Amino acid sequence: MREACLLCRGLLLAALASCVHIPQELEAQISIVVEGVSPTTCEQELRSFQGLGLRMARDAGQSEKALRYLEQRMQGMGYATYRESAGSFLNVEQWNLFAEISGTVDPKVICEIGAHYDTVEESPGADDNGSGVAGILQVAKALQGYSPERTIRFCFFAAEEVGILGSAAHVALVLEREQEEVDGLLNLEMIGYMSKAPDSQGAPIRIPILASLPSTGDFILVAGNFFSGRLGNIFETCVDRFVPDLKYYSANRIAGCFSDAARSDHSSYWQAGLRGVMVSDTANFRNPNYHQSTDTIETIDFEFMAKVSRAAVATMMVWAGWAGTPALEVGQEP
Ligand SMILES: [Zn+2]
Repeated sequence: MREACLLCRGLLLAALASCVHIPQELEAQISIVVEGVSPTTCEQELRSFQGLGLRMARDAGQSEKALRYLEQRMQGMGYATYRESAGSFLNVEQWNLFAEISGTVDPKVICEIGAHYDTVEESPGADDNGSGVAGILQVAKALQGYSPERTIRFCFFAAEEVGILGSAAHVALVLEREQEEVDGLLNLEMIGYMSKAPDSQGAPIRIPILASLPSTGDFILVAGNFFSGRLGNIFETCVDRFVPDLKYYSANRIAGCFSDAARSDHSSYWQAGLRGVMVSDTANFRNPNYHQSTDTIETIDFEFMAKVSRAAVATMMVWAGWAGTPALEVGQEP
């Protein structure tokens, strides 16, 4: 269910471009695949990951523990994993972790879905960003054994909390590599906190009519810059079609104008002229536990998290092309 942003609505081009066609056969496939993601599977995945403890970038032991867990989890699902160095922070080497499903038609073109796995000082980071990591694991599990037309890459980014170091290092490598073409990033940044209480949603700024977040914090924010609009449209269409009871607020195409919407890994992509869309529960504008010791698993709404994860599964299937259904050209902007 879409919360209206009149600026988006008002732009005829954007409105036209928001029509994402999902063929019937693909729709039927997606409806089956998303069923594998439930509040229970989300809770199991997040509980297990949170059991590792803190994941601070400055602590080599903590980071390595998280990386090894993610490697084992992905390998257990049948994925080959690999690491890329993301430089160092306070003399601790940082590692991004990746896994892929190779495309059958256009393997050079890569659709990325990512989340950062590190936490800030002394915060367990269940929402920030254990929820995003568990979301990626849910998507990886749902897509196990399927064959997209383009390559899907699962990205676990290091050191987001200390200056988006992980995604910045990855984007620098992507730009160097001529053999691949990254089509964009769907960034899961805090997808586990919601509240139905009145006035539970804050905002950095509210511009009447143009950009004004609702006052109840029960929606997921879709934040993309103008260049990434089509990717945001795919996510929103997938919500409408496959998770219609998930509310979302569209800051699609306009989020590039707001500095608060650029506070995560997708911003490394924006800076490099690549596409990036963040889906987020809006962090400190809603979650009182943000960067606190109280960001624990007890505060997570697994119904909400499962809905967002389902939409992410569907988005990757539509975006990367599936079962003989061609990939959607997000490059044809707007
Ligand atoms: Zn975060």
